[in-house]
Amino acid sequence: MRLIRPLVETLHAYVPGEQPKIRGLVKLNTNENPYPPSPRVLRALRAAIDGRLRLYPNPTSDALRERLAVLHGCTPDHIVVGNGSDEILALATRAFVEPASPTEKKPRSKTARPPGATLVQYFTPSYSLYPVLADIHGAVRNPVPLKPGFRLPTVTDLRRGGRWRFDAALTFVTTPSAPTGCGYPRAALEALCANQRGVVVLDEAYVDFAAENALALALRYPNVLVARTFSKAYSLCFQRVGYAVASPDLVAALHKIKDSYNVNGLGQVAALASLDDLDYYRANFARVRATRGWLSERLGALGFDVTPSQTNFIFCRPPHFPAEDWFRQLRERRVLVRWFGARDVRDYLRITVGTPAEAKALLRAVRTILRR
Ligand SMILES: *Cc1c(COP(=O)(O)O)cnc(C)c1O
Repeated sequence: MRLIRPLVETLHAYVPGEQPKIRGLVKLNTNENPYPPSPRVLRALRAAIDGRLRLYPNPTSDALRERLAVLHGCTPDHIVVGNGSDEILALATRAFVEPASPTEKKPRSKTARPPGATLVQYFTPSYSLYPVLADIHGAVRNPVPLKPGFRLPTVTDLRRGGRWRFDAALTFVTTPSAPTGCGYPRAALEALCANQRGVVVLDEAYVDFAAENALALALRYPNVLVARTFSKAYSLCFQRVGYAVASPDLVAALHKIKDSYNVNGLGQVAALASLDDLDYYRANFARVRATRGWLSERLGALGFDVTPSQTNFIFCRPPHFPAEDWFRQLRERRVLVRWFGARDVRDYLRITVGTPAEAKALLRAVRTILRR
């Protein structure tokens, strides 16, 4: 008897960025925040480590949801907390998309349209987890290319292009985008959301480094869910806390299907304490933005084609030889950046904005490579 489902046998898992075992690398590959969590967060965590670890945590992260509701000017029933925002994205896939039958996944004729209820739609390039979530769920992927320069297509563009599905059960939009770092105007996102009949997830993992956000759309449109995370902006990747803001109906659906105790207790403590020290984090956002501007300029001067960034990373096309070689040569010089092999991005490197010292180390390595 077969032990593993055929779907799982053929899956390609998501490939996370490397977490190197060797020390002393300049680690600019996974968009972690270069600054530590606030001292208040570390104190709150230490104070929470005692005999109470034997108890289950609050199953729905209520204290955190109440605080987030105040922050965002809504009620807690608009908020669901996840084990990282990756869990929010997975829950949305499971709650809003019908798995396709095997025949729908491989239509016999090229003109056969899969039903919208089975579609997970996203732009390319964007977060490479979306197709993996679609595949795990047995849904049908609908990747649609961005415009040249990684710009967001308008609704008119999408209608003309013919590939976009306004009836897709679920559409993921990374905003500001990854891996490109491009910001999308809120008005353009609103036009997109208003024309989609299914759910639109606005994945705002990097929004704290951007000039604007689209949270208001989650409170205005019943089909819009904004996903946020404490990982990047709040220096809490290790703790795994993310959340969604959406209409109470969508939120209730995610609450129904999540694991009972999906967010660990220390994660809830850390996230809550972060919100007590927003000034500390806002100062960090400003530092990251300043380093981003400076590093973008320097890389540009060295011949890199730098995409303007609204995030804590820089997406750039390096000069003279292939990006993959740059990736390897930088690694030999102990600087770790990210290179993706997909056709539409293989000429680029994604470089996390670190501290000024890390940025300088990167530039030193780049200059050494250029001299050879
Ligand atoms: C990092 C990231 C996430 C999720 O981060 P979590 O650590 O799971 O909260 C979601 N979307 C994008 C685009 C990301 O880069």
